[in-house]
Amino acid sequence: MKKILIATNNNGKFVEIAKLLESLDIQAVPASNLNLIEPEESAETFAENAFIKAKFYGDNAQILALADDSGLCIQDLENAPGVHSARYALDKNGKKNFELAFENIFKELKKKNIFAEQKPTAFFICNLCLYNPKNNFRINLEGRVDGYLPYPALGKQGFGYDPIFIKNGMNQTFAEIDSTFKHQISHRAMAFLKLENWLKKNYNIFD
Ligand code: IMP
Repeated sequence: MKKILIATNNNGKFVEIAKLLESLDIQAVPASNLNLIEPEESAETFAENAFIKAKFYGDNAQILALADDSGLCIQDLENAPGVHSARYALDKNGKKNFELAFENIFKELKKKNIFAEQKPTAFFICNLCLYNPKNNFRINLEGRVDGYLPYPALGKQGFGYDPIFIKNGMNQTFAEIDSTFKHQISHRAMAFLKLENWLKKNYNIFD
């Protein structure tokens, strides 16, 4: 069976990606048993951060590796938190606190005189990098969904920034809709669709 190493220690991400690859008859190999400490995401683009992770795990395991990097970009805040989305949601003790992140985002928008009725625009990005350590081949594929921020944050489902994102054409946040539906329309879904189409045409990458 064709195999791809999933370049993450995050089990939630692994399970989600494994399910998507299964439909393509590709086995997802977890990176967690390699006991590696995830490299720092030090680049300023989603594509380069995904590449850092794919290369690190791929070079270590010497098999085809797939990594993703994602985040929320708010246009009125110069696309922040962007590649810093995960870090932006940490409190001063280094603990995840999305309520605080939402408060800070709304504060920053208010400072710029941007209010809810102006529907501040935002987009989610998911960039996937597939890397082959045997010949240094890499490809990046990106999914994007555009929308706007509600005020206040709404909904309890999903994760991360879902409560402050409404996709264009919808009137509920990603945290108010059913997760199965979100998985069909999200930035991650778009990126994986591109990967699926690419793999179908480039199956020789496994040779
Ligand atoms: P990564 O694991 O480095 O890709 O970090 C992604 C960051 O963006 C995390 O803080 C997530 O909470 C946030 N993020 C990415 N995708 C989504 C999403 O679909 N919903 C909500 N937050 C997301």
